[in-house]
Amino acid sequence: MSVGSPAAASPLILLHRVSRLYRRGIDEIHALEACSLRVERGRFVAFMGPSGSGKSTLLNLVSGIDRPTSGEVWVAGQELNRLTEDELARWRARHVGLIFQFFNLVPVLSARDNVALPLLLTHFGRSERQRRAEIALRVVGLEDRHQHLQRILSGGEQQRVAIARALVSDPDLIVADEPTGDLDARNAEGVLSLLRKLSAEFGKTIVMVTHDPRALRFVDEVFHLDKGVLLEGEEAERAGEAMRVAAGGGLLGEGALPTQAPGWAKTPRG
Ligand code: ADP
Ligand code: MG
Repeated sequence: MSVGSPAAASPLILLHRVSRLYRRGIDEIHALEACSLRVERGRFVAFMGPSGSGKSTLLNLVSGIDRPTSGEVWVAGQELNRLTEDELARWRARHVGLIFQFFNLVPVLSARDNVALPLLLTHFGRSERQRRAEIALRVVGLEDRHQHLQRILSGGEQQRVAIARALVSDPDLIVADEPTGDLDARNAEGVLSLLRKLSAEFGKTIVMVTHDPRALRFVDEVFHLDKGVLLEGEEAERAGEAMRVAAGGGLLGEGALPTQAPGWAKTPRG
C-alpha cells in the first residue's frame, strides 16, 4: 500500500471494464464483457441473472480464484492481476472467505475442526486455531455444536458451519455462490439474516450470487447480469421489478426493496 493511499475510504471492490473470455476449441465464450462496478466496504450485495449470465465468473474474479482476460479488478486496495499465483493465494487466505451452495464440509471432521481448516495456512498454533474456530461458531449461533460431525447437523446448521469457516480468518470480503440454493425456506432466511448481521454488525463486505427473490429483503444492492453484461438504467430497473414481483413485492410496499441507482456502475475513470 503506497503512502497516503486512502484505503479505508476507497471502495472494497472496484471493477474497471472487466472481461473474461473462455476459448473452447474454435468457440469463444464471452462470459463477461466490460463490466464495471464498485462495492463500498460493509455492503451486502447480490448478483442476479439467468443461468450462464456470468455470475460465478464474476465471483471468481472478485475472489482472486480466476483472472480477467482484460480490465482491472481491485479489492481492498490491491489490483489482483499484479499478484503472482503464490501472492494471490496468500492474499486470498487473508482477505476472502468463501461460501458454497453445497457447504463443502469435510465429513470426518467435527464442526470446530472444519471451521479451523483455513487457519492451517496461518502461523497460529493448534490451540489458537481452535479458540478462533470457537469464536466463529459462536458468531453463527452454533457454540453448542463444536464436536458435532456433519451427518448429525441439519442443512441449515451445515451452512452455518461453512459461514463460520468463511469468517474464521477475519476476511474483509465474504463471497457466497448460491448459499441458500440447497436450503428450505426457513433455513434460507436464517442464512440470509446471518449474512445481513455479518455486514451490519461486523462490517464484512458480502457479495452473493443468488436466484432467490427472498434475498431482496436482506441485501443493500442488487446487480443484474444478462449474457455477461451488467445491466444499467431502465434494463436494470426492469430486471429488478421482475424480481420484486417474484418476491411478492406488492405486500412489502413500494420502495421497501433495494433498487440500483442509475449510473452507479460508473467508475471514476469510467
Ligand atoms: P452463471 O454462474 O451465471 O450460471 P457462469 O459464470 O458459470 O454463469 O458462466 C458464464 C458463461 O461462461 C457460460 O456460458 C458458461 O458456459 C461459460 N463458462 C464458465 N466457465 C467456463 C469454463 N471454465 N470454460 C468454458 N466456458 C465457461
Ligand atoms: Mg453459477
